[in-house]
Amino acid sequence: MAPWPLWRLRAPALVYVLLTQAVAFGLVVLVLSLNSPPTLEEWFRFAMLGGTAAAVIVATSVSIHLRSGIRRDPWTVHIAYLAAGGLALPPNLLFLLLLGPALHGVLEARPDPHRWLFVTAATTLAVFVGRSIVGWHDPAWNPLLVLLGGVALLLVRALVVAAGLRLREPTAARGDVFGEPIDVLLGAVAASFGGVLGMAMLREPTVAVLGGPMLALLDLAGQLPHWRRSAQRDGKTGLANALHWDRVARVELRRARSRQRGAAVLLLDLDHFKRVNDEVGHLAGDAVLAAIGVMLRDSVRKEDLVGRFGGEEFVVLLPNACLEVAHAVAERVRLSTAALSVPTHDTLGAPRELGGLTVSIGVATTTRFGYELPDLLVAADAALLAAKASGRNAVMFA
Ligand code: GH3
Ligand code: MG
Ligand code: MG
Repeated sequence: MAPWPLWRLRAPALVYVLLTQAVAFGLVVLVLSLNSPPTLEEWFRFAMLGGTAAAVIVATSVSIHLRSGIRRDPWTVHIAYLAAGGLALPPNLLFLLLLGPALHGVLEARPDPHRWLFVTAATTLAVFVGRSIVGWHDPAWNPLLVLLGGVALLLVRALVVAAGLRLREPTAARGDVFGEPIDVLLGAVAASFGGVLGMAMLREPTVAVLGGPMLALLDLAGQLPHWRRSAQRDGKTGLANALHWDRVARVELRRARSRQRGAAVLLLDLDHFKRVNDEVGHLAGDAVLAAIGVMLRDSVRKEDLVGRFGGEEFVVLLPNACLEVAHAVAERVRLSTAALSVPTHDTLGAPRELGGLTVSIGVATTTRFGYELPDLLVAADAALLAAKASGRNAVMFA
């Protein structure tokens, strides 16, 4: 995710972030000052839980972050030990446990401290609500309350964070704001494991150590959505990569056929792209590819599927488009490409605005070529070649 400098936030997002942090901080101060000092036994439980979680996070940080340079967010581990602490610790030690996520942000020297501070504040509020549900002073085993407390922990955290993301970026995609189903499942696994661990720790604190391997596994599992996304997306443009596009396009075409809807495939190839590389450099070329990716996504509807086919070739599936719509989209893309101005640097490091780009587009529709993807691609490719032969900067229909 892009860095999130505080001063660049829109005013409502800034107010929201600061307010969330102030409320969370106020709650922590209130709880720490109102509750009586913990007993020795409670300190022991805290040490067992905090020590195990810290050992797991340090071990996985060393093995994943330091060795392979992957910056990851062990949020599933945080959720699990906070849920355990929510049942097994008095409120003041529970909030001390919240120093974990904050400390982790400091130790990893995260580049956007206000972002993890905000997420930590959201987590604090969520823990507070969850704890209020299971019972502020002596949470006892009540399946319904523990379940509700876990749901509240996940839901409050997700909603507070989602509202912040929405305020920061009102146009962000749903999946980016609320997470994907796998994020919800991981959160549920983390919270329920934390609940079981917390209940067990009330009887025997040392059992926390047995939870260590499970916490490590949760940490790895927490990387799954990230790994899946990077396996599906193209690194330079963030668009679907060729394999993923192909897979989803086949599913969409099957659906279009069964609903008897017309669909279209657009195959795009930038004109004389080699010149950009030769004259301004390959990094400038990459900046153009990224800008084209953003422009393409902005030029189509949410259900349309944009992918990077390879090199400077892109592909778009319009799963619900008649010939006129396909033509309008292709023309819009052609004109937007010509209007693009990409800020970049040349090989000497001097700033350059790159413009005057053009694209050739071949279009094939299901009305003429049916719903089999290979047939549509072959037809669109032939139309693309015809567009190139006609002098480029053109849209051709197969
Ligand atoms: P045409 O109008 O006929 O399509 O000319 P062209 O120069 O675009 O076509 P050609 O296929 O000869 O060249 C495509 C160029 O795209 C070649 C390669 O250097 C460049 N290219 C492919 N992938 C990338 C990439 O990931 N980054 C950069 N910077 N350039 C790339
Ligand atoms: Mg090409
Ligand atoms: Mg080209």
